[in-house]
Amino acid sequence: MQIVCLDLEGVLVPEIWIEFANRTGIDALRRTTRDEPDYDKLMKYRLDILREHKLGLPDIQKVIAEMGPMPGAKDFLDQLRQDFQVIILSDTFYEFAMPLMNQLNMPALFCHKLEADAEGMLVNYHLRMPDQKRAAVKAFKGLNFKVVAAGDSYNDTAMLGEAHAGILFHPPENVIREFPQFPVTMNYSELNDAIRSASARI
Ligand SMILES: [Mg+2]
Repeated sequence: MQIVCLDLEGVLVPEIWIEFANRTGIDALRRTTRDEPDYDKLMKYRLDILREHKLGLPDIQKVIAEMGPMPGAKDFLDQLRQDFQVIILSDTFYEFAMPLMNQLNMPALFCHKLEADAEGMLVNYHLRMPDQKRAAVKAFKGLNFKVVAAGDSYNDTAMLGEAHAGILFHPPENVIREFPQFPVTMNYSELNDAIRSASARI
């Protein structure tokens, strides 16, 4: 049996924080791990900004629902799920991803959790575990599954390396350069072909 593990942001849906900043016009939310390498500091900063702007979870989810998945993502995923067990492995949060998952026919998603207070204001975040993408692939292998994994960025490379076959999707130039061992695909048709040929090989 074979499992396909897919990253979410940059593969099936836009980068949620960036797109959220665009749609709300809150420039402070453009800050990423490149500007603030301490992830905990970055997340506390983001939650503070949301509170300052009085954006509670329902407001945030409404904006996220309006983003929608990337064009073609739903058809690509529906087709893939006919032939494989597909698991989405993401470093986002369930509360953010769910409005988008609804529009993708609710595939299985493993990610992290946010905590809101009674007013719906986000007060904290909880990572399910560190390095969860790679750990999930490793666990599936332990359950005797063959795994093909695809993602677009640095936080996917450990998962791609752990899988029987790893594929990059629309990655930035520096990731292509630093990880020449992974084949590069630029659209859903190429990704679909690469997954199917990897699946025949592993
Ligand atoms: Mg990504």
